[in-house]
Amino acid sequence: MNCPYCGHPDSKVVDSRDANEGIRRRRQCLSCGARFTTYERVQPASLFVIKKDERREEFSRDKLLIGIRKACEKRPLPTGAVDKLVDDIEAELYHLGKPEIAGAVIGDMVMGRLKSLDYIAYIRFASVYREFTDITALKQEVDTLLSAEASPPASQLPLLPNDRVKELAKSRGRSRK
Ligand SMILES: [Zn+2]
Repeated sequence: MNCPYCGHPDSKVVDSRDANEGIRRRRQCLSCGARFTTYERVQPASLFVIKKDERREEFSRDKLLIGIRKACEKRPLPTGAVDKLVDDIEAELYHLGKPEIAGAVIGDMVMGRLKSLDYIAYIRFASVYREFTDITALKQEVDTLLSAEASPPASQLPLLPNDRVKELAKSRGRSRK
């Protein structure tokens, strides 16, 4: 690890402690004396993602995190919920113990978790990931969620105010007759 200030390759560890799934080390450059921090993460073997066009790309936690953060932008989620979601998926992926995994499998994992976390984030993610090409596909997905809205999971944030949901349920019931 080169010093971020002067580029010198040697540093000494002045402090080291466990941080989440890794180790945080406080270091001091042996040349300029500047202090900086490094994080070591435990990561079994490398994992490759099979893309739609069959290309392989090394799994990137950061890329996954960015995609999910974008979907969750401005949603009233508890601090750390997104990081926890990514942690869970990463752990599950490595737990599978496979050298490569289809991107679609990862996408489904994310969608399953977002669905029980926040419908808006779920729809945002699904619209990018499933590449909704027309409004009908999007509407179908929203309709599915709305029909589940009558008994949402306890952890779910309401998609619509309660009275609006009842109203919708009523009108849907009527149109079916
Ligand atoms: Zn230095």
